[in-house]
Amino acid sequence: MYDKLSREFKTINEGITMRRLPCLLSILFASIVCLAQKPSSSDVPPYKNPSLTVEQRVQDLLGRMTLQEKVAMLSGADWMQSVPNQRLGIPSIKMADGPLGIRSWAGPSSETSAEVARKQVTTTAFPAGIAMAATWDTELSQSEGQAIGQEVKALGRDMILGPTVNINRTPLWGRNFEGYGEDPYLATRMAVAYIKGVQSEGVIATVKHFAANNEEFERHRINAEVDERALQEIYFPAFKAAVQEAGVWSVMSAYNKLNGVYCAENPALLKDTLQKGWAFKGFVVSDWGSTYSTAGTVNAGMDLEMPGGEPMKEWLAKPKTQASGNGAGWLVPEKVLPEISSGKISTATIDDNVGRMLRVMFISGQFDKPHTATGEIDTPEQRALARKASTESIVLLKNINDVLPLDPAKIHSVVVIGPSAAVARTGGGGSSLVTPKYSITPLKGIQDRAGQRMQVSYALGVSMEGEDPGKDTPEAREQLRNEAVNAAAKADAAVIVVGRSAKLESEGFDIKSLDLPAGQDDLIEAVSKVNKNAVVVINAGGPVVMSRWIANVPAILDLWYGGQEGGNAIADILFGDANPSGKLPVSFVKEWKDSPAYGHYPGENLQVEYAEGIYVGYRYFGKHKVEPLFPFGYGLSYTKFDYSDLKVSPDHVASGEPVEVSLRVHNGGSRSGAEVVELYVHDGHSSVDRPTQELKGFRRVDLAPGETKDIHFTLDRGAMAFYSAAKKDWVAEPGQFDVLVGSSSRDIKLKGSFNLQP
Ligand code: BGC
Repeated sequence: MYDKLSREFKTINEGITMRRLPCLLSILFASIVCLAQKPSSSDVPPYKNPSLTVEQRVQDLLGRMTLQEKVAMLSGADWMQSVPNQRLGIPSIKMADGPLGIRSWAGPSSETSAEVARKQVTTTAFPAGIAMAATWDTELSQSEGQAIGQEVKALGRDMILGPTVNINRTPLWGRNFEGYGEDPYLATRMAVAYIKGVQSEGVIATVKHFAANNEEFERHRINAEVDERALQEIYFPAFKAAVQEAGVWSVMSAYNKLNGVYCAENPALLKDTLQKGWAFKGFVVSDWGSTYSTAGTVNAGMDLEMPGGEPMKEWLAKPKTQASGNGAGWLVPEKVLPEISSGKISTATIDDNVGRMLRVMFISGQFDKPHTATGEIDTPEQRALARKASTESIVLLKNINDVLPLDPAKIHSVVVIGPSAAVARTGGGGSSLVTPKYSITPLKGIQDRAGQRMQVSYALGVSMEGEDPGKDTPEAREQLRNEAVNAAAKADAAVIVVGRSAKLESEGFDIKSLDLPAGQDDLIEAVSKVNKNAVVVINAGGPVVMSRWIANVPAILDLWYGGQEGGNAIADILFGDANPSGKLPVSFVKEWKDSPAYGHYPGENLQVEYAEGIYVGYRYFGKHKVEPLFPFGYGLSYTKFDYSDLKVSPDHVASGEPVEVSLRVHNGGSRSGAEVVELYVHDGHSSVDRPTQELKGFRRVDLAPGETKDIHFTLDRGAMAFYSAAKKDWVAEPGQFDVLVGSSSRDIKLKGSFNLQP
C-alpha cells in the first residue's frame, strides 16, 4: 500500500502545476484514508494474496527479504517459537510439545513439568502412543490427531511436536511409551492417520525423531551404527510414509549420531534421503539442543534450530545442560552471516531453508487464517475420545476360568490394591507428559462403576519406588503388604494395579530394569495366595517381567499409560461394559536377555551397533526360535472369533500387479466386540535372508454376537519387496509368497499363497 502511495505521489509531483496543489493534496489525503481503511487487491503484495500459488507467494516473499532477515529465521526466538518479521508481517511459528496431547511450552522438561508451570496449560491427556498402537485403530488415531490439532489452535499455537515414530528396538528405552511399538507397518499406519488428523486442522505436525533414536543412554553423544537395509525396512518406513502419504509439514531430527554423523548435520539423512529421496518439501526442525556446527548443519538441510534467543542462552549456560552434551546456538546470525561471507554457506541454501519454513506457513494457513486462541479445549467430545482410546487399547493378557469380566452375581466385594491404584499415572515422563484438567484413577473408575451393588475397598500395598522414602524400607513394605493381604483375604476379588511412574519411565534416561519396581512382585505374590480372583493390571509403557507370579494369577490386563480417562477405561473392561480388543504392538519378553538388542545395548565407547539388523521384535523371535512371554499382536477377548474362507487372488500375479486377499470373521461368542485381524507375508524363496513373517495388513472390525463380516486386503509390490543394499532399491523377487492371517503373530488361523511372476 505504501509503495503504491509513494508512486502516486511521484506522478502527482511530476505532472501537475502548483496552481492545483491544494486541491490535489486534499484528494491525496482522502485516498490515504481510503486506502488505509480498505486496501484494493492490487495494493496487497503478492505473498499476501491467497489466490496465488504457494510457490509464487514463497518466491515473492523471499525476494522482499534481506539476507539478514532470512538468516534471523534459522534459529528460534525462544523456547517454543520461531522468529517473526514485523516489517513483512511474517508470523512466528508457535509450537506446543506433544505428541500425546499438548504440554505446556514454558521451557525444558524439568521446568515445564514443575508444579508451577504445570498449572499454566491443562489439556486433554490422551493415552500413550504405545496404547494408541495397541488399538490398531487408524480412524481413532486420526480422530486423536484432529482433536489435538483443535486444541493446538484453541491455544493460539501452530505446531505440535509429534508424532513420535521411533521403533521399539529395546524394551529398556525410556521413551518406548511415546511411540507405536516394534513393527514398522503398524507404526506407519498409526502415524499417517495421526498426522492427517492434526494437519486437517491447519496445524503443523512434526514427525520425530529422525532417525534411529532408540535409547536415551547418552542420547546427545551416542552413535547408532545401523545398516542400510535395517534403516530402510525398520527405522525409516514411518518417516517415509509421513512424508509421502500424510504430507507431513515438519520433521524433527534426532539428538544422536547415525553412522558417525550427528542427525542434525547429516546430509545422507536430511538431503539425500528426506529431500531428494522422498521429495520432502516441508522444513526440518532440530531436536531441542541437538546442533553442533554452523555451515555443516545449514548445508545438510537443517532449516530451523530450536530453541533460540535468550532462553536458549540461559539454558545452554547451565552446567547440567553442558554436562548432558546438548548443543545449541549454532544457527544464530552472528555465526551464520560470517559463514556466508566466507562462502561456506551459499545464499541459495539460505533461500531453500527459509523457503521451506515459509512454504509451510503458507500451506498451513498461518498468513491467511492465523490461530487466534478462540477454540475450546477439553470438550466433552475430547473426553469421550480419550476414554474410547484407552478402553480400546487395553490388552487382556490372561484370563483363566473367565475370572473376567467380574460377575456381580458372584463378586460382591473387591479390593483395589497397589501403588498405581489411587494415583492416575496418565503417561510416561519428559516432554510428552500432559497435565490434564482432571484424571481418573483406577480406584475412582472402579468405585464409580461398582456403585452400590459392590463393596469397594483400597489398600496401598506398596509405595511406588522412590516416591516416599519413608515407605521404601523393608519394614514399611512388609506392613503395607500385610494390610493389603488382609484386605484381599476378605474380598471376593482383588485388582492389583502395578507398574512404573513417570519418574521411573521417562525421556532422558532408560528404564533401569524390566522387573517391576521394588516390592511390587512381592505384593502380587502375597495377594494372589489369598485371593483366587486376583487381577493384575499393568500400568506401564511396555513389558515387565512376570516370572515370579504369572502362574498363580488368573487374570492380567495391560492398561499401558491410559491418559486422563485410564481409570474409567479399566473399569469398562473389568466389568465387561466393553470387550477387551487391544493387541500388543510390542512382543513381551520373558526376561531382558531374550531381547534382540541384548548384548548390543546401550553400546560401548558411545557406539551402539544395531547388530540384529532387520531382526527387531517378532522378526527376531521367529528367526531365532525364541519363545516370547506374549507375542506381538496378541490379545484375548471376552468373546470368540472364527476365521474362514481365505481367498488369495490371483494365485499367479504379474510383476507390479496387486494381490487381493479376503476372508470372513465371525463372532461366535455371546458378547459384542472388536477383533483385530492381522495379515503377515512370508517370502520363503528369497535370495536374501527374510523374516518368517512381516505384518503387511490389519483390520479392526466390530462384530455383534453371531455377526459375520468379510474382510479385504490389497497387497501391493511394497508388501512383497525387501530392500537390497547392493541395488540400493526395493526388490520383489518372483516366486511363492505365503499369506498368513491370524489373531496374533503366533496364532495364524488361515494360510494361503500366491506366485509372483517374473
Ligand atoms: C525431545 C523432543 C521434544 C523437545 C521439546 C526434546 O528433549 O526429545 O521430543 O519435542 O525436547 O520439548
